[in-house]
Amino acid sequence: MADAPLPPGATIGILGGGQLGRMTALAAANLGYRCHVFCQNPDEPAAQVAAATTVAAFDDTEALDAFAAAVDVATLEFENVPIATLERIAERTPVHPAPAVQAVAQNRLREKDFANEQGIATAPYRAVTSAEELRTAVAEIGTPSVLKTVRFGYDGKGQVAIRADTDLAAAWADSGAGPETDGGILEGFVDFACEVSVIVARGRDGGSAAYVPVENRHRNHILDETVAPADIPAATADAAREAALRLTGALDVVGLLAIEMFVTGDGGVLVNEIAPRPHNSGHWTMDACRTGQFEQLVRAVCGLPLGDPSRRCDAVMKNLIGDEIENWREHVATPNAKLHLYGKADTRPGRKMGHVNFLGKPVSG
Ligand code: AMP
Repeated sequence: MADAPLPPGATIGILGGGQLGRMTALAAANLGYRCHVFCQNPDEPAAQVAAATTVAAFDDTEALDAFAAAVDVATLEFENVPIATLERIAERTPVHPAPAVQAVAQNRLREKDFANEQGIATAPYRAVTSAEELRTAVAEIGTPSVLKTVRFGYDGKGQVAIRADTDLAAAWADSGAGPETDGGILEGFVDFACEVSVIVARGRDGGSAAYVPVENRHRNHILDETVAPADIPAATADAAREAALRLTGALDVVGLLAIEMFVTGDGGVLVNEIAPRPHNSGHWTMDACRTGQFEQLVRAVCGLPLGDPSRRCDAVMKNLIGDEIENWREHVATPNAKLHLYGKADTRPGRKMGHVNFLGKPVSG
């Protein structure tokens, strides 16, 4: 029966071999599922813990067809899996969240358009496809502003700050925006009070469960720490949660949707980005919530009931970036610290090597 949950022993296909896939595979194993990882290198973090691995390119149709035939459902842990890859797999086996959701999330213009169509505010923005159009957009949006590529930007890559005296031709060239990124987007700079995110799990039956809003602190454009819960007014937390649930429902997500937002000085929220996959700002849930984000993803895509997302204790998640992994001995000896390492052989500056969840005050009741 199409709607019956997948029984233990079934196989979940995961596109992408990074740490998000690794932690999904570990959660899946706890519920009795097998994972088959499709990645580009046999030693990637997820491949190390998977029951089966396909090492092939995302445009290798023969490998994709064999993968689709070998799995009972597919999901992804990597944002930029080509839509054509997802659609090809979806012809043979369910893909959650659906390729149509990924198509919105991979494109900064489409995600902002979609949010605004749902009545959810974003920073002001304009599409830009040339230095000339950048000039017009800067005249309309003003400075300071931020030029980003429409596709393939992450962790601040493909972003250029625009000020009143910026040489716009040089900024356009520096951004790397062009036909292969579907152009650029100019966004008004938000003088935010803090950055928060909400992760929502949504099941095949349309039921959803949101985690509490958390605050994300970045260093060098990379997430450094997540503080759970965010120290924001109750009305702001409600607005963040409400926006996240509305977007998840409107996109008909099955699986997880992470929604990153700016909190403005007056306590309002502006959606910045969405990601239909497990998210770094949800790693704290593994140890501090009744059901962690990876288990929720497995439950959602397999058609199981969603778990309880409520928080057992406050937490701070600290990413171990580059040689911060050297401190693992100290973390593993700290009683309230839960260490998670990703099995990456090479330490490189800016590379996420692991994270630590520092568990805080228990939530009463
Ligand atoms: P993004 O790749 O869009 O997540 O941007 C990475 C980081 O750059 C965000 O987490 C913010 O700290 C900052 N940023 C991005 N867009 C804006 C904006 N419009 N205004 C202010 N800061 C921004």
